[in-house]
Amino acid sequence: MNCPYCTNLNTRVVDSRPGKIEFEVRRRRECQACSRRFTTYERVEQSPLMIVKKDSRREAFDRGKVLRGIQKACEKRAISVNMIEEMVEAIEQELRESNEREISSKVVGEKIVGALKKVDDVAYVRFASVYREFKDVADFIQELKGLLPKECPPIEFDQLVDKVVDKADDRS
Ligand SMILES: [Zn+2]
Repeated sequence: MNCPYCTNLNTRVVDSRPGKIEFEVRRRRECQACSRRFTTYERVEQSPLMIVKKDSRREAFDRGKVLRGIQKACEKRAISVNMIEEMVEAIEQELRESNEREISSKVVGEKIVGALKKVDDVAYVRFASVYREFKDVADFIQELKGLLPKECPPIEFDQLVDKVVDKADDRS
Protein backbone atom coordinates (compact mmCIF):
# COMPACT_ATOMS: atom_id res chain seq x y z
CA MET A 1 0.00 0.00 0.00
CA ASN A 2 1.65 3.22 -1.16
CA CYS A 3 1.45 6.36 0.91
CA PRO A 4 -0.86 8.77 -0.95
CA TYR A 5 1.33 11.74 0.07
CA CYS A 6 4.88 10.60 -0.69
CA THR A 7 4.22 7.24 -2.47
CA ASN A 8 6.50 5.42 -0.04
CA LEU A 9 5.63 1.74 0.16
CA ASN A 10 6.21 1.15 3.84
CA THR A 11 3.19 1.86 5.95
CA ARG A 12 2.19 0.68 9.35
CA VAL A 13 -1.34 -0.18 10.46
CA VAL A 14 -2.12 1.89 13.55
CA ASP A 15 -5.76 0.99 13.95
CA SER A 16 -8.08 -1.63 12.53
CA ARG A 17 -11.81 -1.87 12.98
CA PRO A 18 -14.85 -3.33 11.25
CA GLY A 19 -16.26 -1.11 8.52
CA LYS A 20 -19.83 0.04 8.19
CA ILE A 21 -20.73 -2.76 5.84
CA GLU A 22 -20.35 -6.47 6.32
CA PHE A 23 -16.98 -8.02 5.44
CA GLU A 24 -15.24 -4.68 5.45
CA VAL A 25 -12.29 -3.61 7.56
CA ARG A 26 -11.29 0.00 8.01
CA ARG A 27 -7.58 0.51 8.61
CA ARG A 28 -5.74 3.57 9.72
CA ARG A 29 -2.21 3.51 8.35
CA GLU A 30 0.85 5.59 8.99
CA CYS A 31 3.55 6.16 6.42
CA GLN A 32 6.99 5.11 7.69
CA ALA A 33 8.67 7.80 5.64
CA CYS A 34 6.58 10.96 6.08
CA SER A 35 4.53 9.83 9.12
CA ARG A 36 1.29 11.04 7.62
CA ARG A 37 -1.80 8.96 8.20
CA PHE A 38 -4.46 7.75 5.83
CA THR A 39 -7.38 5.34 5.85
CA THR A 40 -7.93 2.25 3.75
CA TYR A 41 -10.95 0.02 3.42
CA GLU A 42 -10.46 -3.63 2.81
CA ARG A 43 -13.25 -5.87 1.58
CA VAL A 44 -13.56 -9.56 1.04
CA GLU A 45 -14.03 -10.24 -2.62
CA GLN A 46 -17.30 -12.04 -3.00
CA SER A 47 -18.66 -13.23 -6.25
CA PRO A 48 -22.40 -12.81 -6.24
CA LEU A 49 -24.26 -15.98 -5.51
CA MET A 50 -27.38 -16.26 -7.63
CA ILE A 51 -30.38 -18.35 -6.73
CA VAL A 52 -32.32 -19.91 -9.59
CA LYS A 53 -36.00 -20.06 -8.76
CA LYS A 54 -38.53 -22.61 -9.91
CA ASP A 55 -39.59 -20.46 -12.84
CA SER A 56 -35.91 -19.91 -13.83
CA ARG A 57 -35.80 -16.36 -12.58
CA ARG A 58 -32.56 -15.45 -10.81
CA GLU A 59 -32.17 -13.46 -7.67
CA ALA A 60 -29.17 -12.69 -5.49
CA PHE A 61 -28.80 -14.97 -2.50
CA ASP A 62 -30.53 -13.35 0.45
CA ARG A 63 -29.28 -14.48 3.82
CA GLY A 64 -32.20 -12.67 5.47
CA LYS A 65 -34.65 -14.89 3.63
CA VAL A 66 -33.01 -18.04 4.93
CA LEU A 67 -33.01 -16.55 8.41
CA ARG A 68 -36.71 -15.68 8.26
CA GLY A 69 -37.65 -19.12 6.97
CA ILE A 70 -35.78 -20.83 9.78
CA GLN A 71 -37.09 -18.42 12.40
CA LYS A 72 -40.64 -19.08 11.31
CA ALA A 73 -40.18 -22.83 11.45
CA CYS A 74 -38.61 -22.54 14.91
CA GLU A 75 -41.32 -20.31 16.38
CA LYS A 76 -42.10 -21.24 19.98
CA ARG A 77 -39.60 -24.11 19.93
CA ALA A 78 -36.71 -24.47 22.34
CA ILE A 79 -34.19 -23.19 19.83
CA SER A 80 -31.93 -20.30 20.72
CA VAL A 81 -31.25 -17.30 18.52
CA ASN A 82 -27.63 -18.44 18.49
CA MET A 83 -28.53 -21.83 17.11
CA ILE A 84 -30.62 -20.25 14.38
CA GLU A 85 -27.79 -17.93 13.45
CA GLU A 86 -25.36 -20.82 13.36
CA MET A 87 -27.65 -22.71 11.00
CA VAL A 88 -27.88 -19.73 8.66
CA GLU A 89 -24.14 -19.23 8.83
CA ALA A 90 -23.42 -22.88 8.05
CA ILE A 91 -25.86 -22.93 5.14
CA GLU A 92 -24.44 -19.78 3.62
CA GLN A 93 -20.91 -21.06 4.02
CA GLU A 94 -21.74 -24.38 2.37
CA LEU A 95 -23.39 -22.61 -0.54
CA ARG A 96 -20.47 -20.26 -1.03
CA GLU A 97 -17.90 -23.01 -0.69
CA SER A 98 -19.61 -25.05 -3.39
CA ASN A 99 -18.12 -22.48 -5.78
CA GLU A 100 -21.20 -22.57 -7.93
CA ARG A 101 -22.23 -19.19 -9.24
CA GLU A 102 -25.85 -20.26 -9.56
CA ILE A 103 -27.67 -22.50 -7.16
CA SER A 104 -31.19 -23.81 -7.47
CA SER A 105 -33.59 -22.60 -4.80
CA LYS A 106 -34.34 -26.27 -4.29
CA VAL A 107 -30.82 -26.90 -3.04
CA VAL A 108 -31.16 -24.03 -0.58
CA GLY A 109 -34.51 -25.37 0.63
CA GLU A 110 -33.11 -28.85 1.11
CA LYS A 111 -30.18 -27.47 3.09
CA ILE A 112 -32.61 -25.72 5.41
CA VAL A 113 -34.67 -28.90 5.74
CA GLY A 114 -31.49 -30.84 6.54
CA ALA A 115 -30.30 -28.33 9.14
CA LEU A 116 -33.69 -28.25 10.88
CA LYS A 117 -33.95 -32.01 10.89
CA LYS A 118 -30.81 -32.20 13.01
CA VAL A 119 -32.14 -29.69 15.51
CA ASP A 120 -35.87 -30.04 16.01
CA ASP A 121 -38.46 -32.42 14.56
CA VAL A 122 -41.38 -30.02 14.74
CA ALA A 123 -39.44 -27.18 13.15
CA TYR A 124 -38.28 -29.61 10.48
CA VAL A 125 -41.77 -30.82 9.65
CA ARG A 126 -43.16 -27.28 9.65
CA PHE A 127 -40.61 -26.15 7.15
CA ALA A 128 -40.67 -29.30 5.05
CA SER A 129 -44.47 -29.32 4.90
CA VAL A 130 -44.56 -25.88 3.38
CA TYR A 131 -41.40 -26.18 1.37
CA ARG A 132 -41.95 -29.61 -0.13
CA GLU A 133 -45.66 -28.99 -0.60
CA PHE A 134 -46.70 -32.43 0.50
CA LYS A 135 -49.34 -33.47 -1.97
CA ASP A 136 -51.75 -34.81 0.56
CA VAL A 137 -52.15 -35.54 4.20
CA ALA A 138 -51.09 -39.15 3.66
CA ASP A 139 -47.63 -38.11 2.47
CA PHE A 140 -47.42 -35.80 5.33
CA ILE A 141 -48.34 -38.36 7.96
CA GLN A 142 -45.84 -40.75 6.42
CA GLU A 143 -43.15 -38.17 6.93
CA LEU A 144 -44.24 -37.51 10.49
CA LYS A 145 -44.44 -41.17 11.40
CA GLY A 146 -40.84 -41.67 10.47
CA LEU A 147 -39.89 -39.06 13.03
CA LEU A 148 -41.79 -40.26 16.02
CA PRO A 149 -40.79 -42.93 18.45
CA LYS A 150 -42.91 -46.05 18.02
CA GLU A 151 -44.31 -45.82 21.50
CA CYS A 152 -45.64 -42.32 20.86
CA PRO A 153 -49.27 -42.33 22.02
CA PRO A 154 -51.77 -41.70 19.20
CA ILE A 155 -53.21 -38.66 20.93
CA GLU A 156 -49.86 -36.88 20.89
CA PHE A 157 -49.38 -37.81 17.29
CA ASP A 158 -52.77 -36.33 16.30
CA GLN A 159 -51.97 -33.12 18.10
CA LEU A 160 -48.70 -32.85 16.30
CA VAL A 161 -50.40 -33.36 12.95
CA ASP A 162 -53.03 -30.72 13.79
CA LYS A 163 -50.39 -28.28 14.86
CA VAL A 164 -48.39 -28.68 11.71
CA VAL A 165 -51.42 -28.63 9.40
CA ASP A 166 -52.60 -25.39 11.04
CA LYS A 167 -49.19 -23.92 10.51
CA ALA A 168 -49.09 -24.93 6.88
CA ASP A 169 -52.61 -23.49 6.36
CA ASP A 170 -51.53 -20.19 7.85
CA ARG A 171 -48.95 -19.81 5.19
CA SER A 172 -50.84 -21.01 2.15
ZN1 LIG B 1 4.41 9.19 3.17
